[in-house]
Amino acid sequence: MRVTGQGKRTEGICRGLALGFIVAVAMFAWPIMGPIMGSASEAAAQQPAAAHPTTVVSNIRVGAHPGETRVVIDLNTEITYDAFVLPQPYRVVLDLPEVGWRLPAKPLPSGVGQLDKLRYGLFSPGVTRVVLDMKGPVRIKKTFLLKPKNGHAYRLVMDLQGVSPAVFRTVLSEQRKARRAKGTPRPVAAPAATGASAEVAASGGTVPRTTEKISGAGLIAGPVPVPKSTQKPRTPRKMVIAIDAGHGGVDPGTIGADGQFEKNITLKMARELRDVLRKTGRYKVVLTRNKDIFLRLRQRVAVARAAGADLFISIHADSTRNRKVRGLSVYTLSERASDKEAASLAEKENKADLIAGIDLTGESPDVTNILIDLAQRESMNQSAQFATQLVKELRKSTKLLRKTHRFAGFAVLKAPDMPSVLIELGFLSNPQDEKALQSRRYRAMLAHAILRGIDTHFKGVEEARRN
Ligand SMILES: [Zn+2]
Repeated sequence: MRVTGQGKRTEGICRGLALGFIVAVAMFAWPIMGPIMGSASEAAAQQPAAAHPTTVVSNIRVGAHPGETRVVIDLNTEITYDAFVLPQPYRVVLDLPEVGWRLPAKPLPSGVGQLDKLRYGLFSPGVTRVVLDMKGPVRIKKTFLLKPKNGHAYRLVMDLQGVSPAVFRTVLSEQRKARRAKGTPRPVAAPAATGASAEVAASGGTVPRTTEKISGAGLIAGPVPVPKSTQKPRTPRKMVIAIDAGHGGVDPGTIGADGQFEKNITLKMARELRDVLRKTGRYKVVLTRNKDIFLRLRQRVAVARAAGADLFISIHADSTRNRKVRGLSVYTLSERASDKEAASLAEKENKADLIAGIDLTGESPDVTNILIDLAQRESMNQSAQFATQLVKELRKSTKLLRKTHRFAGFAVLKAPDMPSVLIELGFLSNPQDEKALQSRRYRAMLAHAILRGIDTHFKGVEEARRN
């Protein structure tokens, strides 16, 4: 039952978002006709707990008025919510308990009033997030819930008012003060930070939420949780491979020529690779995510490190304006990008946290900046060697991009003690690549090539150790 529901929901998300990104729909009328009566009620933010969402969103409408933009969300039940603004870039975030989606088969609103575009998806276990990219600074004038009336379902209404940057700064600082005073629980999925096992995250299970701020720097630079030295040298230890399906939940990643979402392709590929690796009996595999959910870049690294991963493989798919460009490429970390394309790709992939509506102002810059320390040099060398093996094997199976192994400052490759590579499976902007990546057989072929690359890598590591 649950599976069916999720399947439908995913389909709805794909259709809605894909079209929403491609076509701009202009709506000129206020979505709600008639005066708003006293039935409006403010609801405090509340942590939702439902594992099976009972609330279903049936429509998102946006209307423009001079200086103001109204967002209306149609729902079948009452709902709690938490709305706030974010700077750099200007965004409005609306957090809801986990909801189901049954949107009409038409494009999502975009380019309406102050709204540029919007997206939605699972942000953390039990929390659905809607992120509105705004054209400029706005303040949330009011948010309220309307009870069913005149044939309408429940409606969650948010009025956004365009303001000057100076006013926005004041709004932001007042918002921060108010949220701090209220102790507003910010939904955070932190499998590794809470000490929960990586397996929990990997199985998609619900991890107890915490309001504790995740210190990315601490997680990334801290000690390896699985001390390898405690194991007897004779005991054959299964190598642990962390597979990271890029993007997820509220962050769809890139969108293909045919409307395919990068986040769905990466998850399918991650599962395929997991199955192929497990079948050998030689590897233990951990997935950073095993469902359509958002994970911060630092959380991905934290999950892998908590599992004591010996290799970290982040899986992505690219897109570019030139639809003829196709082929797979492999990336490793470096301070200086190998070329302009690699640099802009890293910049794009590093934006995941912003896409998902996270406030990065005042945070340590480890997510957005890449400063490489000495401890990283060794794993960078190993990463590069592994990438070479991968390219060698993948070349036998598929078309590769020219200059297949490139370097750039990918935040997700920053673990100092874990050789890490990022594979761009191909270009979703290229119809051929997009079609191939939807084929299970093609993904299985890639997975086997990656397996051979991993085998060769560890053989090399083993030989180096013996000599
Ligand atoms: Zn990506």
